[in-house]
Amino acid sequence: MADGGERAPGEQALAVLRRVFGYQDFRGQQAGIIEHVCGGGDAVVLMPTGSGKSLCYQIPALVRNGTGVVISPLIALMQDQVDALTVLGVRAGFLNSTQDPDTRRGVEYAFLDGQLDLLYLAPERLRAESTLRLLDKGSISLFAIDEAHCVAQWGHDFRPDYMALSVLGERWPAVPRIAVTATATRHTHEEITARLALGNARHFVASFDRPNIQYRIVPKNSPQRQLLHLLSAEHDGDSGIVYCLSRNSVERTAEFLVSQGFAALPYHAGLDARTRTENQARFLRADGLIMVATIAFGMGIDKPDVRFVAHLDLPRSVEGYYQETGRAGRDGLPSTAWLAYGLADVVQQRRMIDESEGDLAHRRRLSAHLDAMLALCETAECRRAQLLRYFGEEPSERCGNCDTCLDPPAVWDGTEAAQKLLSAVVRVGRLGGPSFGAGQYIDILLGKATPRVADYGHDRLKVFGVGRDLAEAEWRGVVRQLLASGLLSVTGDHGTLALTDSSSAVLRGMRTVMLRKEQRPGPRTTVRSQKRSKSGADNTELAGAAAELFERLRAWRAAAAKEQGVPAYVIFHDATLRQIAAAPPSDLAGLAAMNGVGETKLARYGEQILAVLARGDDPPRPPRDLTA
Ligand code: ADP
Ligand code: ZN
Repeated sequence: MADGGERAPGEQALAVLRRVFGYQDFRGQQAGIIEHVCGGGDAVVLMPTGSGKSLCYQIPALVRNGTGVVISPLIALMQDQVDALTVLGVRAGFLNSTQDPDTRRGVEYAFLDGQLDLLYLAPERLRAESTLRLLDKGSISLFAIDEAHCVAQWGHDFRPDYMALSVLGERWPAVPRIAVTATATRHTHEEITARLALGNARHFVASFDRPNIQYRIVPKNSPQRQLLHLLSAEHDGDSGIVYCLSRNSVERTAEFLVSQGFAALPYHAGLDARTRTENQARFLRADGLIMVATIAFGMGIDKPDVRFVAHLDLPRSVEGYYQETGRAGRDGLPSTAWLAYGLADVVQQRRMIDESEGDLAHRRRLSAHLDAMLALCETAECRRAQLLRYFGEEPSERCGNCDTCLDPPAVWDGTEAAQKLLSAVVRVGRLGGPSFGAGQYIDILLGKATPRVADYGHDRLKVFGVGRDLAEAEWRGVVRQLLASGLLSVTGDHGTLALTDSSSAVLRGMRTVMLRKEQRPGPRTTVRSQKRSKSGADNTELAGAAAELFERLRAWRAAAAKEQGVPAYVIFHDATLRQIAAAPPSDLAGLAAMNGVGETKLARYGEQILAVLARGDDPPRPPRDLTA
C-alpha cells in the first residue's frame, strides 16, 4: 500500500504515522531514519528498547512499493506482531517452521500477488534456495534485519543464520536494508556493519538512556524474602520478570512466589517447547503475571507494561544486564530494575568461567565482562552514569533515579580491614595446607574457633580475632568489594581466595581502599516514593473518576482482547487508555486526536469506547455492601 504518489517521502511518512498508527509526531531519530530508508538508503540503527525501532522499517514498508521483508528470529512472537499490525489495518503475514504447508502457501501467494505490506521471516528460511527464489518472484520494498546483534554475539543460537544474511545485499543490491538492534557496544556495531556488508549504510545511534527505569542493586542476604518485599511493597499486581541463573532456582522461586499468593510462571530451556510457548503466551496476554526465567526468556518480548525486572543472580555482563533490565517499561512509565547479588555469585561465575569451553582469550573476555559487572554493583556513584559511560556515552554525573543517587551509600576507609583480610590470606598460605574460601577467613578474623579453624591451627595465627570490630555481613562486603576491584581473586572450583598483583600495594600501606558501607537489610520503600513524584510526563497519576474510568476501559479492553485472541496491549496501550481516562473525549474526532488511536482502530473500537465513556455519566450505583 504505497501511500500517495506525489508528496516527498518525509511528508508521506508523517501522514502514515498519523493515519495508521495514530501518533502525532516522530520520536528521536525516527524521522531521519525513515526518510533515509524511504529514499532507498541502507541504515544501521542502534536504539534502546522501547524507543520505536519497529516504525523505522514499518513506515518505509508502507510508503515504498512492494513488500517489506522483516527478518526476525522470534518465531514465537511473529503471530503477535502480525496481529498487532492487522489491528492497525496493515496487511502483514509471516513464514516460519510452525506453520502447516497450506497456511504457508497462502502467505506465499499473498506475497506474490502483492497483497502484503510486511512479511516476517525467520532467518533460517533464507538459507533455503526455495525461499530466495520466492523472494525473487515478488516485489520487495526493503529488508529489515531485526535483533541484528545476533550476528555479533559469540555462541549465539541464531548466529550462523544471521551470518548468511549477507546474501541479501548480493542478491538484491537495489533493495534498501535496515539493521536494528537494542545492543549498544561499539564491538556489536562494527560486527553488524561488517558481517551484514552494510558498508554504505548510514548509522543512527541514539542515547541508550532509559530514564523511566530506576536501577537498584542490593547485597543479597535472603533473596526470596528480599524479592517478596520488593513485590509486596512496590509491585503488587504488576507484570514483571524475575531472572535466575539456573533452572533449579527458576523452579524454586516460581513455586515460592505462588505459595505467597503471586501469579508466577516458570520459563527455562529445560521445559518442553509447548509449556514454554504456553507460559510465554500467558505472560504476554494476561495483566499482572510474573515470569520467573533464565535468560533464555525475553528476547524480543515487546510487552510494553513490564513494570519490574528483578535479578536474583548476578548477570554475566553489563550488556546482558542492560538488555534484560531494558525489558521493563517500554511504555515509558516508571519501572524498576532490581538486582540482588552476593559473594557466592562471584565465586560461582568465576567457576563457570574457569570451566567454560574456548581458549584463554575467550576466558579473559568473559572475565573482563564479569569485572565490569562487579564494578557496576559496587560503585558508590550513579549507576546510570556508569552504565551509559560503559556504552560510550557522556552522561551527567547524577541521574536522580537510581539507588546511589536517591540514597547515597556511606563510604568508609577500609584500608585496615583490607590489610587484615589480605594478611590472613598470606598467613594461611604460609602454613602450606589447603586453600580456603571466604567463610574460613571471616571465621578467623572474627575469632571463631570452629572445628575447621582449630583443625588447621588457624586459631594460632596472629590475625585470629583481629576483625571483631566488623560484623560478619560487613566482612562479606569487604571480600566482595576487594574481589570486585581486583585486590583479591577467587579461583577454581572451591571459591578459594588468593592474592593478586595489586594486593601487595595494600599490604604495604601504599594504597588506600575506600569501601561502600553495607546497607542494613530491611525495608527501603523511600526510594520508590521519592521517585514517583519525579517521573516523566506520561505518568499521569489518575485519581477519583478518572481512575475509575481507566479501570473500566481496561476491563473493556480485556474483554475485547479475549474475544479476538490477542494480547490486551495490541488493542490499546495503557498510556492511550490513561490519556482517554484523564480527558474523556465526547466524540470520535476527539478520540482520534488521542495518541495511539489511528484510522483503523478508531473505526473498529471508537463507538465501543464512547459507549464505555458514556456509561460514566450514569448516576453512581449505590455501594454494594451497605451493611459492612
Ligand atoms: P523498540 O522496538 O525500539 O523496542 P517499539 O517499536 O516496540 O520499540 O516501540 C515502543 C512503543 O513506542 C510502541 O508501543 C510504539 O507503538 C510506540 N511508539 C513508537 N513510535 C512512536 C511515536 N512516534 N509516537 C508515539 N509512540 C510511539
Ligand atoms: Zn543515578
